Amino acid sequence: MSKQTTIKKEVSVQGVGLHTGKESKIVFKPARADEGIVFVRVDLPNKPHIKAVVKNTLASQAVRGSVIANGDATVYTIEHIMASVSALGIDNLIIEIDSAEPPILDGSALGFAGVLDEAQVTELEAAKKYLTLAQPISVSFGVSRYWAYPCDHFEIDATIGFDHPLLKMQHLAIPEINRDVFLKEIAPAKTFCFDYEIESLLANNLGKGGNMSNAIVIGLDGIHNEEPLRFKDEFVRHKILDLIGDLYLAGHSIKAQVVVDKPGHKNNIHFVEELLKKAVLV
Ligand SMILES: [Zn+2]
Repeated sequence: MSKQTTIKKEVSVQGVGLHTGKESKIVFKPARADEGIVFVRVDLPNKPHIKAVVKNTLASQAVRGSVIANGDATVYTIEHIMASVSALGIDNLIIEIDSAEPPILDGSALGFAGVLDEAQVTELEAAKKYLTLAQPISVSFGVSRYWAYPCDHFEIDATIGFDHPLLKMQHLAIPEINRDVFLKEIAPAKTFCFDYEIESLLANNLGKGGNMSNAIVIGLDGIHNEEPLRFKDEFVRHKILDLIGDLYLAGHSIKAQVVVDKPGHKNNIHFVEELLKKAVLV
């Protein structure tokens, strides 16, 4: 029987938020069994807690990132933190944040996964339960299609495709998502956007902290960044990263094979809602 986990010691990260462009600091702290993953807005009166679960998401705002809220207390762009917490197998964690958005760091999850790994995952005296499936499920939302199959571990098979000559299709299957695979194959993959999107992102008050060091910019003539890609298929790897983070909004680790075509934050959250209707916690 596996046991629930948390981290051994407090660790922190700071930097600028991708969309707000504001400086923020995150402090990861150990939590008790059954507390789950809880964000705390320490800059607001009474320090409101927001549990990172699907019922607290604002799906309507999940255009460029996943958002959770408790009343007026909101945290944007939580997916890279959630992916790191999930892949490292952390069940219970307090995440203090002093603004509405975590730092984007280098656009990947390496900064979060790195400090959480340093903080050392440790077992608690409580049994860990997993979300499992008895039957396959399949759902579509717009262009996004999702399938989940019963499986004794967590794996992802993802395909992405855009109406863009440089990114028509990328596919990658990760046979088992765990700490080692995540740190090496997924966490380093950076956020990306298309050059033509930048103007409308800024017009919508998004992407204000974005720059050439924390986002890959794809143009018709190629990649605009000086830094070379970290992987040839970095874009599908980043989409898998985001998906791992969004799936953890299910509130528990998942044992299933997840197959997805054209995932996006808003639809990932709808998929988690469907998954929770069918999944059994064992
Ligand atoms: Zn992302």
